[in-house]
Amino acid sequence: MNSRERFLTALTGGKPDRAPLAHVAAMTTVELQQSTGCFMPAVHLDAEQQARLMAANHDTLGFDAVSFIINFFGEPAALGAEMDWGAPDRLPTFKSNPWRTPEDAVIPEDLFDRQPLKTCLETIRTAKQRYGDRMAVLGKIMGPFSMLQAMHGVENVLMELLDSPSQIAAFLDVCVEALVRHANAQFEAGADAVSIGEGGAGARMLSPAAYETCLLPVHRRMIARIQGPTILHICGDVRSRLHLLAQTGMTCFNFDWAVSPAEMTAAAAGRYTVMGNINTTDLLCAGPAELARQVEENLAAGVHIISPGCATSPRCPNANLRALADAIARH
Ligand SMILES: [Zn+2]
Repeated sequence: MNSRERFLTALTGGKPDRAPLAHVAAMTTVELQQSTGCFMPAVHLDAEQQARLMAANHDTLGFDAVSFIINFFGEPAALGAEMDWGAPDRLPTFKSNPWRTPEDAVIPEDLFDRQPLKTCLETIRTAKQRYGDRMAVLGKIMGPFSMLQAMHGVENVLMELLDSPSQIAAFLDVCVEALVRHANAQFEAGADAVSIGEGGAGARMLSPAAYETCLLPVHRRMIARIQGPTILHICGDVRSRLHLLAQTGMTCFNFDWAVSPAEMTAAAAGRYTVMGNINTTDLLCAGPAELARQVEENLAAGVHIISPGCATSPRCPNANLRALADAIARH
């Protein structure tokens, strides 16, 4: 089995020759930027460089599946959010919330000609063509709730969820429309699977009841319209919501270290596959031995795909990320 076959087999619940290593959240290192000569922030708007930098996650670090898009805020940036594009050791983030009222929430005709989405799609096309026979090429969209927080402001969203839920529902519908189009464009460009980064819907943002009434139906509707395998990521301690996740229809769930591997596989119960949950603080600060222990714990619990639990700091040493592939090989 090559890396792509191994990842796609595990993603859909089959039996690979060994567990694959993958990442869906942002992951690059300053060391990799130095060795490839492709640096943030320029890579976010340069498909050739972004593809080359991200392929190093396979070639140097041993990842079977690589998420070729680093920036998490592609859709808001294309829809007018001002960006801080960051630095070699700092991931991009948004600086403004362009939607004030539902009248502002319009998807332009030229969505995919706008940056950075034009570069995202071009990066996936390049990656598929150049590396797609030996590694899985993953795309990425935001989750609708996280996107709305970027477009309308975190506090506004949380307040209106209580005061004006119909306005939030209208906003979310527009987000879903943009995100479904973007995901399907990524599949057309050659993505093997697309992740949905719903970091903004973490446990501290939404109660289980609010998730079930306001967001779960949105996730379900959106995922039903995406024409390929999906990997949903939600940050943090979502144990109180695990029983609801199967209803989203996702292929796989990327879980964080706040949920133990054993709890996660028990909750999934074969209804979806799971990938996780290496602690990203430990990827930065601990050593290879602790990381190998976490890989072992995940494999023992039956986690299908080993991955970081969330986005990793660009300051992570390559040696710590490489320790994950080495631990799987030794298993
Ligand atoms: Zn996360």
